[in-house]
Amino acid sequence: MKALTLLLVLTCAANAQAIGQNGAYYDGDDPNPAPLKYTDETLTASLALNMKNRNVTAVKNAAGAVDPGKLSRVEKIALMYLVTTKPGAELDVVVEDKGQFFAVETYWEGDTFTVKAGAPREKIYGQASAKEEISKKYGVGPFVDEDAKWDNDSLYVVETALSTLSKIELEGIAGLPFHRLKKDPSGKAVRGTAIAMYVPEKNRIELYDGGIDADKRKFFGTADKPMPLSVATVIHECGHAIARAGNRVLKQQLIALKAEYDAMQEKLLADRKKYNEDKATYARTKDAALGTALNERGKVLQQLSKDAAEKAKTFQALSAKMVGEDKGSALEKALEAKLPVKSSPTVYGRTSPAESFAECLAIYKLDRAALERAAPGVPAWFESAEYAALAKGATVIP
Ligand SMILES: [Zn+2]
Repeated sequence: MKALTLLLVLTCAANAQAIGQNGAYYDGDDPNPAPLKYTDETLTASLALNMKNRNVTAVKNAAGAVDPGKLSRVEKIALMYLVTTKPGAELDVVVEDKGQFFAVETYWEGDTFTVKAGAPREKIYGQASAKEEISKKYGVGPFVDEDAKWDNDSLYVVETALSTLSKIELEGIAGLPFHRLKKDPSGKAVRGTAIAMYVPEKNRIELYDGGIDADKRKFFGTADKPMPLSVATVIHECGHAIARAGNRVLKQQLIALKAEYDAMQEKLLADRKKYNEDKATYARTKDAALGTALNERGKVLQQLSKDAAEKAKTFQALSAKMVGEDKGSALEKALEAKLPVKSSPTVYGRTSPAESFAECLAIYKLDRAALERAAPGVPAWFESAEYAALAKGATVIP
């Protein structure tokens, strides 16, 4: 019966971690790719119609106020995306035109649309290092192909994300493998498509095709210095893995403890059986030597039973230290003390201390100034001794 309780505790602890592990998503309100295929005539007419329907007349680009008819094709497509959003929305979109990719920032200033297009680029990704080199350089686990394969682009995403992490942060994901899958097998995405996910039950980070697709449609940062969206997502997932590193160490210890406990129980069961058989023999024969031996063996059995109970106690105490997704780890709680979850810079970050931490880390790494605007003082916290000590402590059991 005790073994069953232990098993249940271990299962619950693993489940508690799994609940709410939503990863990060490419939102359902992503730009519709249809305008990319419009002829110039259709595009101009659609934009004019959309603007009329929404009573939008003022448009600005890098040159200042501009006649919407004079916008470039890329700017028109970007405006088509924004015009359907409510004033106040801001969209960082990638527009693909004639084999080139343009990062375009679009935002509202009062009733005026502003569009800011970056320089055209032929490629979204740069040259990645070999898998083995990345693992060695950053101390992470191997890159494993599942139903999708690691290629230059997907490796570039992870390598770029890892290059933003500090030595202490990398220690928090030391040995963690990266697996490449077509899509999230758990199907946890409520809307849109999952890009990447830290999967604590499997001790790994997964990257999906959705990330590579999303990078053709959205970016992170500024139009002048665009970063593939999936890089931000991988940093976000590394953030979860860093903040929950203590749980991974605990889980290993719990698994080892459980194996020891099970072995003790198995021995107890076998020894008891033999003891009872011999006791029956003694009752019949009254063999004095056997009686003495049974006495001794009875004491040993008692001790073994005590040791097993002790082991179970240790297990319970350690499993109580497992941090549930909703509770927040030490690192996540420390950020929460600086920045309430409801004030997290993104809507997704406002769902839990874990998501707030992951979102802030990704923004901090890729656009420090934006994080300072959205959450003053948080970038300084990431650079503080407190953060370094907590990040280091995340891999050590308290
Ligand atoms: Zn997340």
